[in-house]
Amino acid sequence: MSILTAADFLSTEVRRHVEAAIGEAERLTSGEIRVHLEDQCPEDVLDHAAFLFSELGMQRTRERNGVLIYVSVADHGLAVLGDAGINAVVPAGFWNDVLDLLRNAFREGRHAEGLSAAVLRVGEKLAAHFPRRADDRDELPNTISTS
Ligand code: CA
Ligand code: CA
Repeated sequence: MSILTAADFLSTEVRRHVEAAIGEAERLTSGEIRVHLEDQCPEDVLDHAAFLFSELGMQRTRERNGVLIYVSVADHGLAVLGDAGINAVVPAGFWNDVLDLLRNAFREGRHAEGLSAAVLRVGEKLAAHFPRRADDRDELPNTISTS
């Protein structure tokens, strides 16, 4: 049976696994990672991810280093979008590498592992450029959001 809704995709186990990965990744960086899931993407996936980025207030980080991982479950939409601070320092292919990692894992039904691995990969990249600071705050919630 294929998974068609964000609710099916987001079992308690997946949620717990991925939210733990976000917390772990953010221990090493001032960057902020969010995961957003929905059933279907209503428009071009990158445009929609940019819309959500703003809708979720992800531009409100001190160092402009928020990263959104977006998945639309039924139509297999994927986007990984970084704010200006992180975008300025990652190599062009990096976001595509993260997308490949997600695609490969989802194809094999490894949702929790794929999302967690993507979160940790992004976290490593953030940590290399934006180490965690002594006065770090959790600027964006680590919980998976849905719409
Ligand atoms: Ca933080
Ligand atoms: Ca956070």
